[in-house]
Amino acid sequence: MPTRSVEERGNFGVLESRPMAAHSDAIVQNIARVRERIARAAERAGRTAGEITLVAISKTCPAEAIRAAYEAGVRHFGENRVQEFEAKSEKVRDLDVAWHMIGHVQSNKARKVVELFSSVDSMDRLSIAGKLDGAVAESAAPEPLPVLIEVKLGGEASKSGVEQMGLAQLAEGIVRSCPNLLLRGLMTIPPYADDPRRARPHFEKLRQLRDQLSATIGLALPVLSMGMTHDFEVAVEEGATEVRIGTAIFGERRTPQ
Ligand SMILES: *Cc1c(COP(=O)(O)O)cnc(C)c1O
Repeated sequence: MPTRSVEERGNFGVLESRPMAAHSDAIVQNIARVRERIARAAERAGRTAGEITLVAISKTCPAEAIRAAYEAGVRHFGENRVQEFEAKSEKVRDLDVAWHMIGHVQSNKARKVVELFSSVDSMDRLSIAGKLDGAVAESAAPEPLPVLIEVKLGGEASKSGVEQMGLAQLAEGIVRSCPNLLLRGLMTIPPYADDPRRARPHFEKLRQLRDQLSATIGLALPVLSMGMTHDFEVAVEEGATEVRIGTAIFGERRTPQ
């Protein structure tokens, strides 16, 4: 019987010394376990697992790990660094999946982001939204780019995202001045607490902010991207439609992010 903490950290530790087949098996098993936990959390909240999209966060993982997750049925992946993903993308270009940008976008990388990613889930500044909007307009086959606004909850403890006070203004700015962006919802990373239940008020808050914002700007905002390895079950209970899970699928990351 694996202990709970092993379950949460993913089912393998030393990536390099494991043969690739065993490594892929671990990923496949981890995904099955994560899906099961999502389904149980959904059930507790009177929801169904089908309402929740699993976004596998593959930052720092090799292309082979992405491929193993793809074979297990994962169709959404998240990466937080343009350069890292660009280097890997050659090897996974054939996969028919959605690539989510979940990290900070630098303005000089807007064009690359539009070229490489299917959505940006970490929008927190109108100037960057403008750059992305322009990059979409200039691309060979312009197609609206879905975006989520990242909201900073939990005060000082949170590092990224727009402050609650600035949320409506940013959303209105995107809707008004970025015709090539499609605002779909909100994302958050709550401050870390040992007890994942302490994230609950933040997830609840994000849902309320979404409801208010949706009414204010008169736009359906169906996506709530919240919940990571440590707290995704609580997030699902609070209405997450997308969970972003790295460690519980791919194991502990070697490179600090
Ligand atoms: C790394 C990362 C995740 C995944 O974190 P885990 O704890 O490994 O599941 C999710 N969201 C964002 C924005 C990240 O940077």
